[in-house]
Amino acid sequence: MEYERILIRYGEISTKGRNRNRFVDKLKKSVKIALAPFPNVRVEAGRDRMFVILNGESGTAVIEKLKNIFGIQSFSPAIKVKRSIEVLKQTSLDVVRSFYEEGKTFKVTPKRSDKSFELDTDGINRAIGGHLLQNIPKLKVDMKNPDINLRIEVRKEAIYLSCETIQGAGGLPIGSSGKAMLMLSGGIDSPVAGYMAMKRGVEVEAVHFFSPPFTSERSKEKVIDLSKKLADIYGSMTLHIVPFTEIQQTIREQIPENYSMTSTRRLMLRITDEIRKKHDALAIITGENLGQVASQTLESMFAINDVTNTPILRPLITMDKSDIIKIAQEIDTLEISNRPFEDCCTIFVPASPKTKPKREKVQYYESFFDFDPLIHEAVKETETIVLNSENNVRTEFSELF
Ligand code: ATP
Ligand code: MG
Repeated sequence: MEYERILIRYGEISTKGRNRNRFVDKLKKSVKIALAPFPNVRVEAGRDRMFVILNGESGTAVIEKLKNIFGIQSFSPAIKVKRSIEVLKQTSLDVVRSFYEEGKTFKVTPKRSDKSFELDTDGINRAIGGHLLQNIPKLKVDMKNPDINLRIEVRKEAIYLSCETIQGAGGLPIGSSGKAMLMLSGGIDSPVAGYMAMKRGVEVEAVHFFSPPFTSERSKEKVIDLSKKLADIYGSMTLHIVPFTEIQQTIREQIPENYSMTSTRRLMLRITDEIRKKHDALAIITGENLGQVASQTLESMFAINDVTNTPILRPLITMDKSDIIKIAQEIDTLEISNRPFEDCCTIFVPASPKTKPKREKVQYYESFFDFDPLIHEAVKETETIVLNSENNVRTEFSELF
């Protein structure tokens, strides 16, 4: 049985009251962008559901795309028929037959959002259930745990039939939660942190600190490849590459060795915050995870966070490493992150960085040097590139926001 449309359920966004139209609009744009490779599909968005009308495009291929779109709770391939009991009986039979194998059980789940239809839910149940039992000899009813659940929804304009419910990616549509800058290293954590923020509807731009010749072109390549993976999610990703060599050298000269890492992080954060202002973002995202390394103790965060009161989102803060790795595998960044490379932060890492740095001490050490001109220079020399997904998602990025 060929279905001709896919019914999309919104889940969380339907609880968002007055903002709903905006959410539906963002979701519709995400769906259109993801389905750009299928020129014949039509997307119809309503207040409480959306339809993708296939118009001859491959249902299986469209379903694969829909599985990755944030803001979709679940979806079902469906068939639209006119409001006639005879047509409903015939189509129901076709649908159930296409799923039926000997021994399988079924039930009918009718729903009437338009009460003017001649049968009520009980009536539909009896008419369709009876018709199916008559025409498929060994079919049995199971109200509790059926193999086939035929949903029949009567609406004003038509009746919709569906049998399967496919789990969506959940989350919120991209662009519905404002913009943030992701501090993207070449490690495992930060791409996952970016992905999780995107899942909550955040528009993300990446910022990477690059220290040639101490870090090589290959490590830059790595961050570009990670950004391309994140670009798969909504078609493209903006990456800001900050030249950081001079600042790192200055830190080495000015700051006592056991505080150099704390100071490096503080300067990265200050620069990221400047770039954030320039691009009208509202928050900064990091891959920090409590207790993993010296820079990620609470004392350390307390000393680093001192340089800004911009919200810092740390989606991974309480997660276990094994769970982070699982997500990195799912979003296909793990292999790239595992490539060997020199991180600009590990290159000058002292033998024993302070695990419990003091805020006052790092402030004091930094007070002997004016970093402002270097910060301005780094922001000015930042290279911005827009990376497109390699997964043939053609897109008008600006359309999304
Ligand atoms: P990751 O796996 O993301 O590299 P990590 O566990 O190695 O994280 P750190 O190296 O302490 O931890 O980095 C903490 C966070 O600081 C990173 O998750 C990232 O958000 C940011 N960061 C570190 N290095 C860079 C860099 N070179 N450019 C941009 N951000 C960075
Ligand atoms: Mg790292």
